[in-house]
Amino acid sequence: MTRPLVVLGATGSIGLQALEVARHLGRAVVGIAARRPRPELAALARSWPEAAIAVAGGSPSEREDFLAEVARPVLFGSEAVVELAGRPGTTVINGVVGSAGLGASVAALEAGNRLALANKESLVAGGPVVMAALRRGGGELIPVDSEHSALFQLMEAMPGGAVNRLLLTASGGPFRGRSPAELEHATPREALAHPTWKMGERITIDSATLVNKGMEVIEAHFLFQVPYERIDVVVHPESVVHSLVELTDGALIAHMGATDMRIPIQYAITHPERAGASVDFRLPTRALHFEDPDREVFPALELAYGAGRAGGSAPAVFNAADEVAVAAFLGGRLGFTGIPRLIERVLELMPVTDVGSVEEVAAVDEEARHHAAGLVAGSC
Ligand code: MG
Repeated sequence: MTRPLVVLGATGSIGLQALEVARHLGRAVVGIAARRPRPELAALARSWPEAAIAVAGGSPSEREDFLAEVARPVLFGSEAVVELAGRPGTTVINGVVGSAGLGASVAALEAGNRLALANKESLVAGGPVVMAALRRGGGELIPVDSEHSALFQLMEAMPGGAVNRLLLTASGGPFRGRSPAELEHATPREALAHPTWKMGERITIDSATLVNKGMEVIEAHFLFQVPYERIDVVVHPESVVHSLVELTDGALIAHMGATDMRIPIQYAITHPERAGASVDFRLPTRALHFEDPDREVFPALELAYGAGRAGGSAPAVFNAADEVAVAAFLGGRLGFTGIPRLIERVLELMPVTDVGSVEEVAAVDEEARHHAAGLVAGSC
């Protein structure tokens, strides 16, 4: 099936690579959305003249300038992005950063679209809501994140009931092997130096704290309907193995590949078909290492498991508190080890409730941010 594509978060890292893959595959792009009415987006609009353009934010004057530059109709407002995602018959690549991506994910699935999901917050903050939309709309949910794409491909290749355990690989980030004392004074510059993947700022910091891996555990739980006690994390600094499954008979099956997001993006578009590669990959001849994550140095991982097991609103709280903590860390208002401490305190402050709608998730998100910001201001 060659559905046309809608790319959300088009000016971000995933969005730009998705458009590159679309070009490579010769796929039509019928929608492009981004948060800000910037010149980069205007340039994309010119490159894809058939695509509807949606912009979530921007001031009235920024919007006016943008309209003049693009010289065709533009849909404005966050509801316009959701509307674009909900136009049926498309594959929606959701590369939106942050909890703003949830509404678009739900709209895409309710319309019966294929959702190629790169927005973590959709499943972390709104897992129950997204899964309900998937059941209601009869769409498809295909992960784009490298680990989940690997697990998705492994799971579809295995007979039903054969998988015992999921093993998500983690690079370990720039602080692998450090002591807690050394991490007290870690700077944003050090934390932003990710050894294997080139990504956006928040996800790079989240990789350094292992918050990102914790969020991926929660995503895997929803995507593959596997209980938390059967999802493990293994540190693998080379990032060549993208994840593994352990089968009931003890066999471990690994998925390997280049550290290049264009590969999982392409598979999310072409599944179950395969197309020619846009990336050159040779199996590396260097050694591959595997080790257990240091749960003492990286307490965020256990916090994520705890939030996942608590269910309901807890993962949304975990996500929102982390986003505030990362911004505070990057702004020099919170130390590196303050990030998991802040998340833990916000989780303690908020009782676990059920979340059944995008609005309920947004309310939890807002309250958690409010608590987190208050704790940062009062110096956590
Ligand atoms: Mg990942």
